[in-house]
Amino acid sequence: MNDFISAPRRRALLAAAGLCLSAALTPAYAAEPLKVVASFSILGDIVREVGGKDVSVSTLVGPDGDAHEYEPTPADARKLAGAQLLVVNGLDFEAWLPRLEKASGFAGRKVVASEGVTPRKFAGGGHDHGHDHDHDHDHDHDQDQDQDHDHGKGDADGDKGGHHHHHGDADPHAWQNLANGARYARNVAEGLAAADPAHADAYRQRALAYGARIEKLDAAIRQTFAAIPAERRKVVTSHDAFGYFGDAYGVTFIAVAGVSTAAEPSAADVARIIEQVKRERVPAVFVENITSPRLVQQIARETGAKVGGTLYSDALSKPGQPGATYLEMFEWNARQLAAALQP
Ligand SMILES: [Zn+2]
Repeated sequence: MNDFISAPRRRALLAAAGLCLSAALTPAYAAEPLKVVASFSILGDIVREVGGKDVSVSTLVGPDGDAHEYEPTPADARKLAGAQLLVVNGLDFEAWLPRLEKASGFAGRKVVASEGVTPRKFAGGGHDHGHDHDHDHDHDHDQDQDQDHDHGKGDADGDKGGHHHHHGDADPHAWQNLANGARYARNVAEGLAAADPAHADAYRQRALAYGARIEKLDAAIRQTFAAIPAERRKVVTSHDAFGYFGDAYGVTFIAVAGVSTAAEPSAADVARIIEQVKRERVPAVFVENITSPRLVQQIARETGAKVGGTLYSDALSKPGQPGATYLEMFEWNARQLAAALQP
């Protein structure tokens, strides 16, 4: 057979075969996007922004999903097994993830998106709650601090269901402060750069541009809330997901459940919140996209507070709804809150 192929032609064919072979054997072949798995939808969007065309992203907990109480599927294990990079929130948000990692045999790199943020701690009771993190940030709401953080202060039963808090633990919902979101984007960029050095510059460039958009929105939201009288900036939500938002933008969030969606609030917890809403004339209550609206609606009925709408707490909306990206969800939340709290 070989006799029929000239020597130069044979060399060319062999070279071509060799090229194909080496392409197949090189894991980070330049034309293949980096395979990234993000633990939940908000992170998935941040990875898409920073990774652009150089990554293919899939998420484990999808839109409107509850990442506190997630049960991974065999499909998740397959996704993770084929991934080169895993991006997680950290701060003990994804308690179900270590088992999945083990089961999938995942052998890629891992990025903790929240690395370097100042964790918001949960103190023992409502009284101490505010003072623990006052020094952790230096936003210009100083004159509002007492107003913003004194929920429960001064009454014997002011713990507002504090036993649902994981005492001393960090609040995992750090993405609810845009300054932290910018940090997430930088961490994701460094993680992508380490896993795929050929595109390191592109990842860092996109993180910079995205960071500028985040900063712009952050400034606009600060302005919005600063214009609302401090005593009006109080709302009820289903679970305690907005502590970072509250600290950053000067809004007090009274949560029916704790930092996790796992614990059902007791009737006494709900009664206590109804008392507080009446006493402090809390203007509005909000339902969340990941939790049942039942208790929040009950509180609205019994207090006359208005139902301000739906907030996106721990997950994006489905595409085509108002919170389909991290920035859209943030802007939507801020706009709904501001509209409900306006005198
Ligand atoms: Zn949550």
